[in-house]
Amino acid sequence: GKWVYTFGDGKAEGEAGMKNLLGGKGANLAEMSNLGLPVPPGFTITTEVCTYYYDHGKQFPADLDAQVKAALAGMAKLTGKTFGDPANPLLVSVRSGARASMPGMMDTVLNLGLNDETVEAVARASGDARFAWDSYRRFITMYSNVVLDIDHGLFEEALEDYKERKGYHLDTDLKADDWKVLVGKYKEIVKKALGSDFPQDPEQQLWGAVGAVFSSWMNARAIKYRELNSIPASWGTAVNVQSMVFGNMGDTSATGVAFTRNPSTGENALYGEFLINAQGEDVVAGIRTPQDITEAARKEAGSDKPSMETAMPEAYAELVRIYGILEKHYRDMQDMEFTIQEGKLWMLQTRSGKRTARAALKIAVDLADEGLISEEEAVGRVEPSALDQLLHPTIDPKAERRVLTTGLPASPGAAAGEIVFNSDDAEAARKAGRKVILVRVETSPEDIHGMHAAEGILTTRGGMTSHAAVVARGMGKPCVSGAGQIRVDYAKRTLSIGPTTLKAGDVLTIDGGNGQVLLGEIKMQQPELSGDFAKLMSWADKVRRLKVRANAETPEDARTARKFGAEGIGLCRTEHMFFDESRIQSVREMILSADDRGRRAALAKLLPMQRQDFVQLFTIMSGLPVTIRLLDPPLHEFLPQGEKEIAEVAGALGVTPDALKHRAAELHEFNPMLGFRGCRLAVAFPEIAEMQARAIFEAAVIAAKETGKPVIPEVMVPLVMGKPELDLVKARIDAMAKAVMQESGTTIDYQVGTMIELPRAALRAAEIAESAEFFSFGTNDLTQTTLGISRDDASSFLGSYTAKGLLEADPFVTIDQEGVGELVKLAAERGRRARSGIKLGICGEHGGDPASIGFCESVGLDYVSCSPFRVPIARLAAAQAAL
Ligand code: ADP
Ligand code: MG
Ligand code: MG
Repeated sequence: GKWVYTFGDGKAEGEAGMKNLLGGKGANLAEMSNLGLPVPPGFTITTEVCTYYYDHGKQFPADLDAQVKAALAGMAKLTGKTFGDPANPLLVSVRSGARASMPGMMDTVLNLGLNDETVEAVARASGDARFAWDSYRRFITMYSNVVLDIDHGLFEEALEDYKERKGYHLDTDLKADDWKVLVGKYKEIVKKALGSDFPQDPEQQLWGAVGAVFSSWMNARAIKYRELNSIPASWGTAVNVQSMVFGNMGDTSATGVAFTRNPSTGENALYGEFLINAQGEDVVAGIRTPQDITEAARKEAGSDKPSMETAMPEAYAELVRIYGILEKHYRDMQDMEFTIQEGKLWMLQTRSGKRTARAALKIAVDLADEGLISEEEAVGRVEPSALDQLLHPTIDPKAERRVLTTGLPASPGAAAGEIVFNSDDAEAARKAGRKVILVRVETSPEDIHGMHAAEGILTTRGGMTSHAAVVARGMGKPCVSGAGQIRVDYAKRTLSIGPTTLKAGDVLTIDGGNGQVLLGEIKMQQPELSGDFAKLMSWADKVRRLKVRANAETPEDARTARKFGAEGIGLCRTEHMFFDESRIQSVREMILSADDRGRRAALAKLLPMQRQDFVQLFTIMSGLPVTIRLLDPPLHEFLPQGEKEIAEVAGALGVTPDALKHRAAELHEFNPMLGFRGCRLAVAFPEIAEMQARAIFEAAVIAAKETGKPVIPEVMVPLVMGKPELDLVKARIDAMAKAVMQESGTTIDYQVGTMIELPRAALRAAEIAESAEFFSFGTNDLTQTTLGISRDDASSFLGSYTAKGLLEADPFVTIDQEGVGELVKLAAERGRRARSGIKLGICGEHGGDPASIGFCESVGLDYVSCSPFRVPIARLAAAQAAL
């Protein structure tokens, strides 16, 4: 087989498209050679050799040796130097290179081929003994560390000792003789550690390094990394052997790294650092402070060290020429590594550069504006979930951070405010115009009003799917959850983190993007929704097919949703409108009244409030569809908690507190998730559904009159098992619509549909579709009921499932395509067959998850609905799914 691919001198056997075989680094070295760029000649040993090596008990293919020798001979022709020749030695670097750059792989070994003899030859040929011995000591250090597994620190200690004794400060203070002495010491270190001498034979050195690269593919760090990033072990790594160029040949030599555009802001300007008289990783190792590449960057940084632009103008001009070529060719921002040997620039690596979300957005839009990529390509260049970071205020990167502790980054964005320890205080402070951070051990549905009032939420318990996390993400509020080092004392109204104690009223900042909890109010940056962002979103909207709606109940959420481009409301959870302080009392009366009459009296109080809510939503969403779900959660979620609340409700109902407690106890359930909830409430208490239907239709009449535009309410019945339940509830809804139309003398266009969130409903979709005008897949519940996993109880074991690979991802975050997805597909097909053109959507957390949105596109749903702050993410993900 062909195991070796050469590159250099304006041509190569490989090219950029051969990453699988040559690894990322090797493929791009070949590509740069083909482009005629100055690349030191070399060759790539393919990933297939790595696979062979592991399939054959760590043996190399028999013909590999000959191919390597031939490639080395080719390098000799191009460089005029011969590998292993004591008089005129060729030195090489050995570099690992998987398909994608991968931490855990062997570090690069430079200057390979040096030994006691060749070092003298290099000194003679270069006329620079310091350079030769500096290179040799570097080689011994690197080779010992990465191939022979000898602790790096031993060499560093020896060097530091030596410098101290001689009164040197910088490595560049050392002369040839100094390095020579140190090489002697280094070899002693090796002998002591190894029991044998440092390998002197260049060929032995080469195969040692090649073997070390392949071995590093199976080291613990690499295996762990592959596991976390689902990279199969069968991919293997390639090895690159490349002739050395030297950045450590004095003041006309240097080494550097550069990005073709600024990787943190995206600004279209060369950005990078270089170091004179240095080699390889010196730039990033922090041995000396690197210098700026451009004069503009130097000025901005206020550095007094000359930039490359002024210090090495010719090499700089060459770099500018090359980066222009590379960007045009790769049509993306590049991250480049280069070395300058005695004034001549050599390219050692290029790849698409990593970038922040902000830079990704700007670069994609700029590249399209520059005509380098199409608008569609630009849409594909930005990670939808990365937009999250751009939609919220963030901490000013220049601000100083005093980190108290770090919890989980549960909901992005940063917020600052006074500490409050309960939701009522949060609401009171908000009314008084103060900003607060709500700090709780954990939150419950009772805290919704406090969470709304707070700038951000901090909990000491609970994970990424805890109540606080889920609700905060839904509200678009920053949240740090599970900050376990914080002790909260509700009674004293204090919290402590180690020795630090803070009290209510003290100011905190939380960073929901990284989980940090910071002392004091830190300076923020506001999100920029116009400009590049708006442009990219408009391009995304041109290509996407799926509509994007929002889950929203409050006017604030509905306005946010429209601002972010929502095309209607896909889920209005009416129970959220009941938690409000002014209403909860009437809700409790409704639930706890012993008879019909009491219930109707309480409902009569709720009707005008609900109607007003809907008028607001319809007005904000004027001209767009609004899906309203009838009351869904188990009633006990609304029950009064303390003695005081119980006494209040009992008083209003005219019963004793004991009688009330008894009634409340009756509502207790062992498994509320599978209990008295959803349409079961409407079946048992039709008057609740009737009140809600009346409120919806009366509101539709009012809003249509006020706005002059049609209102399109979609009434949604939750948790049905089959057609009969839906028919029962639908009959009440239709009757109410008729009544309201008669009373008002107006016609109302409306639809009645259902959620598909039980496996049985998915199976009976054909029948259900005879009555339902739309389906909304409630994939949160459908996941719970299909997998038999309660979302609220999943955290204790789900981690083990994903860690052991039993589940690919958290099914509450990304839809389980094989199970839940199959039911969605089947129900969609059956539903469509029974009622062609039936409207199909999805609501719940999955509606804002890019991978799940991809699935929705593939099944051909009509829309996804997600929390307002995820609307832009969904728009972009939907566009990418359609590309
Ligand atoms: P990494 O994948 O960690 O970036 P590389 O293989 O790119 O490792 O090597 C790191 C650095 O070593 C390069 O950026 C370059 O400065 C230096 N280097 C590698 N090969 C050579 C070479 N043939 N000549 C000069 N320097 C080299
Ligand atoms: Mg590199
Ligand atoms: Mg549900």
